[in-house]
Amino acid sequence: MLRKDIFSCITIKKGDITTETSDAIVNAANTSLLGGGGVDGAIHKAAGPGLLEECRKFNGCRPGEARITAGYNLKAKFVIHTPGPIYKDGKSSEPEILRSSYWNSLMLVKENNLKSVSFPAISTGVYRYPKDAAAEIAIETAVSFIEKEEYPVDISFILFDNDNYEIYIKTLEDKKNELH
Ligand code: ADP
Repeated sequence: MLRKDIFSCITIKKGDITTETSDAIVNAANTSLLGGGGVDGAIHKAAGPGLLEECRKFNGCRPGEARITAGYNLKAKFVIHTPGPIYKDGKSSEPEILRSSYWNSLMLVKENNLKSVSFPAISTGVYRYPKDAAAEIAIETAVSFIEKEEYPVDISFILFDNDNYEIYIKTLEDKKNELH
């Protein structure tokens, strides 16, 4: 696929991921997969109790792995749950784990033949991953997934806070300039 077509698959928006209408939304879960605060709490609240029931069957999930469930009361048909890394010092495999969260979520999108997916800024809340570095990994992984897997899915990044929104806009611009 041409580079310019890859970038046409990526959208950055400010907002609340629970109202997205994409085929799947991604949940920045914790390893229990049994709900929590932040975006995880918001998704469970909007989806209703069926989501928690389905999540129980997994018996948890390791950081960087991903699991898919139905979307219940959400507009999205599916929820992909992935625990990102808890940021310590940047030398404890945090970048690799964060990359895996994005990559494994996108593999589930492909395996389930979905056409669109929305991501929050995984690990940049309670898990304290530096926002610039996390945005770089999110966008880089999306670009390399579309390129390597040749699966032209629409990928949206839904940023809740202004900081992340501005960082993502700039990171995507930089990436476009770098690759052209
Ligand atoms: P983590 O534990 O992975 O850090 P958090 O939920 O604490 O997860 O935060 C991840 C990101 O999700 C943060 O940038 C936060 O601002 C954002 N966030 C919180 N609520 C929502 C929401 N409803 N939609 C999209 N993003 C959200």
